[in-house]
Amino acid sequence: MQPVIALVGRPNVGKSTLFNKLTRSRDALVADQPGLTRDRQFGEGKLGDKPYIVVDTGGLSGEDAELDSLMASQSWLAVEQADIVLFMVDARAGLLPDDHAIAERLRQSGKTLFLVVNKVDGTEAALATAEFHALGLGEPYAIAASQGRGIKPLMEQVLAALPDADAREEGVPPGIKVAIIGRPNVGKSTLANRILGEERVLAYDSPGTTRDSIYLPFERDGQHYVLIDTAGVRRRSRVKETVEKFSVIKTLQAVKDAHVVLMLLDAHQGISDQDASLLGFVLESGRALVLGVNKWDGLEKDQRDWIRREIDAKLPFLSFAEVHFISALHGTNVGHLFASITTAYESATRTLSTASLTRLLQDLVEAHPPPMVRGRRIKLRFAHQGGQNPPVIIIHGNQTASVPDSYRRYLINGFQKHLGLEGTPVQVELRSGD
Ligand code: GDP
Ligand code: GDP
Repeated sequence: MQPVIALVGRPNVGKSTLFNKLTRSRDALVADQPGLTRDRQFGEGKLGDKPYIVVDTGGLSGEDAELDSLMASQSWLAVEQADIVLFMVDARAGLLPDDHAIAERLRQSGKTLFLVVNKVDGTEAALATAEFHALGLGEPYAIAASQGRGIKPLMEQVLAALPDADAREEGVPPGIKVAIIGRPNVGKSTLANRILGEERVLAYDSPGTTRDSIYLPFERDGQHYVLIDTAGVRRRSRVKETVEKFSVIKTLQAVKDAHVVLMLLDAHQGISDQDASLLGFVLESGRALVLGVNKWDGLEKDQRDWIRREIDAKLPFLSFAEVHFISALHGTNVGHLFASITTAYESATRTLSTASLTRLLQDLVEAHPPPMVRGRRIKLRFAHQGGQNPPVIIIHGNQTASVPDSYRRYLINGFQKHLGLEGTPVQVELRSGD
């Protein structure tokens, strides 16, 4: 599971500014995708080869009354479930009573904390951070988020405080890892229980696998799968169930961890902002995706037509994903999900040869040549695979920076179609020799 870093602090201390620096900006990706909410609350980033998930908890007010009610909210849940908390304060505003109140709560959380003093631009760092020692959270890190100053040394310390990736991989059973995600009450646990009730559930004993493991391995038609339990199917303690029933963070981690995401939508409710924002993260993560429209039972025909139209209209950017209309409760069409999950997995992890990619590239270019730029034609010479899950196709040529988005989309669609890559997004990267 990828580590989760939560950004916490009063409003205006610079959380979203730091968030933007720590995450690959999603704007480029979602800018022209109608229906996709631009959610600035969670994103992913990387330092060197270390990936992480960042959650902006939004403005936590320090006022006690409000903090109490917030304890039960997603913001504090995010703190509880994060691996690392970056507590941000503002050097310009100085140390305020709200900072003390938040610090107190954070101390009680027992989390690994980093005290980050932002906006140190214009003053000497040691001077700017001096008063914040009074919070008793150790040595403050001085940064200027808007200028990108001090962020790299901070993140190096943050990532050094995390267990390494190999330790995180321990205890993962073999098989196609599937994350069932979706809003509360959409039917995730009903579906998981139905699947696990019908299939041969595999016991998996290995060091690091506990009874609380979130991995639920099973076998179907000779294929091994592993459900990543985001719905708390196997939760031992039922305490705090209402709060924990839906956890954005667990969902994000499961998405990153999965080979294939199975996103459930509610046939009665249509597509909400929360759905769109989850799907935005799935898209950003490049994961293979299968959509299940649940609670299909007992729907009138006009309702069925409506939800079909809703999906076409609101999720055109997910056209690579197979859609199934299911009833987790009655088991209708649940079997079909597996064919799509397996196909999506195979497409996402397939090895593509340089020869076949280059030949296909040449065919695509011949059928529809790239445009002229300043009197010269853009040349695309050869292609090779740059990664799996999702498949990344790297194309080498000249003046590739001038390739318009519409042409890139043409290439992506062409590769997708002719290679028969179903259920997975395909990424095309253009590299220039000049
Ligand atoms: P949030 O409410 O905690 O998310 O804070 P924002 O990221 O929206 O930042 C609040 C304000 O502080 C904005 O006007 C930012 O431009 C400004 N700001 C953020 N980081 C810095 C910094 O390093 N130096 C200065 N001088 N201003 C900053
Ligand atoms: P979760 O929060 O996503 O895990 O949702 P649950 O699995 O707990 O389901 C929430 C409610 O929806 C329960 O009352 C289920 O019985 C009901 N439900 C789940 N799947 C279906 C379905 O296919 N059809 C109908 N009619 N109800 C369903």
